[in-house]
Formats: sequence, C-alpha cells, structure tokens
Amino acid sequence: KLILITGGTGFIGNHTVSQFLSKGYRVRATARNQDACNSLLSVHSGHRDLLETQVVADITRPGAFDTAVKDVDGIVHMASPFTDKITDNERDLILPAINGTKEILQSTVSFAPKVKRVVLTSSFAAIADFSKGLRPGHVYEESQWSPLTYQATKDDKIGLAYAGSKKLAEEAAWQFVETSPGVNFSLATVNPTMVYGPAFPGSTSIKNLGQSMSDIYALMDASLTEVPPTLLPSFVDVRDVARAHLLAFETDQPQRFLLSAGDFDKQNVCDLLRDQIPELKSRVPVGNPGKPSVGEHYEIDCSRVRSVLGIEFQSFNETLLDMVRAFMEMENAE
Ligand code: NDP
Repeated sequence: KLILITGGTGFIGNHTVSQFLSKGYRVRATARNQDACNSLLSVHSGHRDLLETQVVADITRPGAFDTAVKDVDGIVHMASPFTDKITDNERDLILPAINGTKEILQSTVSFAPKVKRVVLTSSFAAIADFSKGLRPGHVYEESQWSPLTYQATKDDKIGLAYAGSKKLAEEAAWQFVETSPGVNFSLATVNPTMVYGPAFPGSTSIKNLGQSMSDIYALMDASLTEVPPTLLPSFVDVRDVARAHLLAFETDQPQRFLLSAGDFDKQNVCDLLRDQIPELKSRVPVGNPGKPSVGEHYEIDCSRVRSVLGIEFQSFNETLLDMVRAFMEMENAE
C-alpha cells in the first residue's frame, strides 16, 4: 500500500516515515523544498525502494496536493508550523494549519478514490483549555475541545496562537469529513502532549532543532543558570507518537487519540541529567533538586489509546535520557 505522509521531514515525521517503511508500506513524503526531500531519502536510504518524495512548496495553495495524492491508499497529514518564531499569527500559523488540512482533504476527495483512512496530527492543545491554568482535579479526555476561536487566535499575544492553530485545523478536518460531498474515508486524529525523545538518527543537527527538541536542549547547552518554568507538565515519547499514527491508520473508527505518558517537569529533567550523565553536570542548571516547579495539575485520560491501539508508553527516564544522548551524539558529529 502507498501512504502519503506530509511533514515527514520533521521530528515526529522521520520516526513516522520509518515505522511505516519498517512495516512494509510504500511511503510518498512531501516537503517544501527539494533539499528537505533529498535529506529524507538519505536518512531512510535503507528503504530506498519503498520511499519516494515530492515537493509541495505551499500547502495552502488551492490544489496543492492534487498531484501528491495520486494513487495513494492512505494519508497521514502532519505538516504544520510548530514554532514560536512568528511575526504574524494568521499568516505564519493559522493559515498553513487550517488551509493545509482542507487542501489535502479536498485533493483526496477529488483525486484519491482508494483512500479509506486519513490520520491528522493534531495536539493536546486542541483539547485543553489553557485559559483555566493547571486545573487541579480536572481530567482531560477526547470529548473536550479548546475554546480558542479564530479571532482570539489571530489576536493572541500570550503564546496561545499555536494552540489555536491546531484546534482550528482539527475542527476544520472533522467539519470537512462530516459535511463535504464525496468523502469516502474515515478520519482519526492523534493528539499528543509535548513530544520528546531522540531525534531520528541523521535527521537533524544540533543547530537545526525543532521547537520541542530545543526546549530540552536549552537545559543542557550551558546557557542557563536557573531551571526555567515548566509550562506544559505532560509528555509523550516521539516513538510512541509515531506508532500511534501507524496504529490509528490501521484501525477504522473515526476517533481522536489523546496521548500522554505522564507528568513532566524541567526540574526533574535537570535532576535526571545531573544524576545520570556526569559529563553534563557543569552544563545543567541545579535549581531545587527533587522539587518540581509545577504543583497540582490536571490529569490526562489515555485509556482509549491503551485499549484501542494497545500502546504502552515509554517512561520519563527512557524518553529524556535517549533524547539527551542523541543530542550528545549530534554534538560529537559537528
Ligand atoms: P517539526 O518542526 O520537526 O516538523 C514540522 C514539519 O511540518 C516539517 O516536516 C515541515 O516540513 C512541516 N512544516 C512546518 N511548517 C510548515 C508550513 N508552513 N507549511 C508546510 N509544511 C510545514 O515539528 P514536529 O515534528 O514536532 O511536529 C509535527 C506535527 O506534530 C505538527 O503538526 C505539530 O503541530 C504536531 N505536534 C507536535 C508536538 C511536539 O511536541 N513536537 C506536540 C503536539 C503536536 P518542511 O520539510 O517542508 O519544512
């Protein structure tokens, strides 16, 4: 079977491409330029016979995916901006997220009649109501939605624009499959909390880390004297997120899958690194060892992903130590 994966060049994308290839699927990956396509081909050169790439320079352009969807049997749409380096919320985050999603669904209806399943990478941010803070006692699960509106996301100045872009894109996807004529496929969304874990070998360099990787690298690059506050106190391993995409693709219920492996705190990361990796001791801030900065906070119910997809999550120590060891290998390779 041929699967189209957008965003395959990213942190989660490389692991996802790898897991589909390892299971014997043929993968067509899109990226915005030929260099990104070439590097994806070289990272996964062991599966060269199963992997092809295509440039889609602007995912918001009408008909952007008309060629990329030809002959595919399934779709994973992951491409979406995840960065705090933005100047215009609408142009840099909202429109690529929403219109990229609508375009790939429209191209699927028009040109990919064999597709029975589309998996969209959404986020816990599409579920959580961050305006309510840490909400001790509250349990988040898949029936809940972020209240962020288009206007609030466009006008946001307090760092919620990315969350809004993910909520609005996912909402657009469900609306599309429920209301558009000619839809012949089911939709699943994967909604992870903060994604950590090792970069796929060879897929990136220390100077070019994505958003969630740079948040952790900042703790060990000797740039900090204090442990920064933890804004999002949950995490999930990138390998589990990739696996969830594969397994969500292989089931047929139209569902959201919320993914969290448990609690996360930057103080715990610093404690772990100082304790387990002696070379890093002088580079990692001390803070208040043993005293996580985040207090009581919401819980996240992941029973659906456990029962329907059968995923057991990697532990905090495995995820963070594997991630940091991958950073150290990248530093040595520079
Ligand atoms: P990366 O930044 O590593 O990858 C993002 C991918 O999306 C890249 O492949 C990039 O492709 C593509 N992309 C980014 N911006 C655009 C744009 N404007 N137009 C077209 N393509 C674009 O991020 P992650 O791997 O961390 O994120 C992947 C997905 O997972 C995103 O949808 C993100 O919202 C979601 N997510 C991530 C979480 C995390 O903690 N990392 C948590 C929850 C959800 P190109 O090669 O063309 O640059």
